[in-house]
Amino acid sequence: MKEENSEQTGCAPPLGDMSAEEFRRFGYEVIDWISNYFERIEQRPVLAQVQPGDLKAQLPASPPEKGEAMEAILADVDRFILPALTHWNHPSFFALFATSTSAPGIFGEMLSAAFDVKAMLWRTSPASTELEEVALDWLRQMMGLPEEFEGLIYDTASVASMHAIAAARENLNLRIREDGMSGRADLPLLRVYASQQAHSSIEKSLLALGLGQRSLVLVPTDDEYRMDATALARAIEEDKRAGALPMCVVATIGTTSTSSIDPVAAIADICEQHKLWLHVDAAYAGSAAVVPEMRYIMEGTERADSLVTNPHKWLFTPFDLSAFYCRHMDVLRRAFSLVPEYLRTSEAETVRNGMDYGIQLGRRFRALKLWMVIRYFGHEGLARRIREHCRLAHLFSAWVDEARDWELLAPVPFSLVCFRARPLVIGESMEEREARLDRLNETLMNNVNATGQAYLSHTRLNGTLVLRLAIGNLRTSEEHIRRIWELLNEQAALLSGSK
Ligand code: PLP
Repeated sequence: MKEENSEQTGCAPPLGDMSAEEFRRFGYEVIDWISNYFERIEQRPVLAQVQPGDLKAQLPASPPEKGEAMEAILADVDRFILPALTHWNHPSFFALFATSTSAPGIFGEMLSAAFDVKAMLWRTSPASTELEEVALDWLRQMMGLPEEFEGLIYDTASVASMHAIAAARENLNLRIREDGMSGRADLPLLRVYASQQAHSSIEKSLLALGLGQRSLVLVPTDDEYRMDATALARAIEEDKRAGALPMCVVATIGTTSTSSIDPVAAIADICEQHKLWLHVDAAYAGSAAVVPEMRYIMEGTERADSLVTNPHKWLFTPFDLSAFYCRHMDVLRRAFSLVPEYLRTSEAETVRNGMDYGIQLGRRFRALKLWMVIRYFGHEGLARRIREHCRLAHLFSAWVDEARDWELLAPVPFSLVCFRARPLVIGESMEEREARLDRLNETLMNNVNATGQAYLSHTRLNGTLVLRLAIGNLRTSEEHIRRIWELLNEQAALLSGSK
């Protein structure tokens, strides 16, 4: 036992944690490992080239009886974990919304893990509680949001939007907190409106809140995938006539499929007229508002009741950190505050206790990494990086637009390009052509991804399969954009040759 657990072997001591000396040794090793990982990340396939079950098959099915040496554990990260990773930090990760961590963000995560604070009460976490207010207020200022917006950190935009909709419901004063919704004949059908391009998290919020899918009205969009405000007004009026109770509208700035921007100002007019809660989902594109000349994208949000944006998407902050802003934090608190005796504190009325604003009790010290990211890059440095991503997306979209066998399928307001290969074949019907192009583009995407050199994803717009190239990684440069364009053309040529 003594030999097995001695410090020479890197094993745990009989009691307590790793010694400070060992911690320092392995800590330096891990930092070296991470530096090498970033330096050599381009040598790895972006998308994990493994089959389902591959990793599990290589790992023991039961836990080790005795502690193992740290050296062996780290070696297994190299051997087993690395090959099964999809590398989100790879500069040619263009799928979904491309994101990236950053050095200051990683340091923030490390320190937060070391502090291991549970930010439920101010008293258990003064630094976390107050830094959260400061960092989110900095972000609010950088985005040009109104001063009345108070910030709160959740893990994800999905969870933030669920809390926004819960607050909208609480705002109706229907005693749902006290009496719930089931078995109540006095409750009308509550309605939430979002565009057909809204993120699935809005529908999921309704599942979680017991409102059900029936509560959701998906409002049609125009030919640029923006919510049709006239159709929204019509839907609300029809619902009112039918006896339903409109409750909340979710507008999106930067929809998931195309990054389209709903007309928030027109939607805010309608919400004001009908006294509806306006929640803005700016999960991806909110970060673009830190670029001064792109602030216009937030027009109308100054009249919103709540808004969410994800620094973990496009503000170089490691996952997870979602920034939620609300001008009625008291309503959110009314919906969720529940204080058992063992969590009562004398200062409760004069401080903010994070547990009062959601279903979580303990909350991570996430603000630290955001604060460090903002300080390290500065407003100007963050804006420069986001501006560059938009420039790269416009460069790529110009190549697509000019190429005979390719086409753009949506406007490019930010750093996401929706496009497809469109080689023409004479004598096809429209249906034949669309079916062929869907198959071709899907194969093209799979073939590009299988090279390991880049990772693209897709969506469907009006039934058409669309390729998405999302740029948002700190390491992505013009060279990577040129390379993916070449790769797409090479793979498309191979496919047309093999026909
Ligand atoms: N809203 C929009 C517009 C999104 O694009 C996404 C994710 O891509 C989400 C919400 C969900 O984000 P999260 O993973 O933080 O819940």
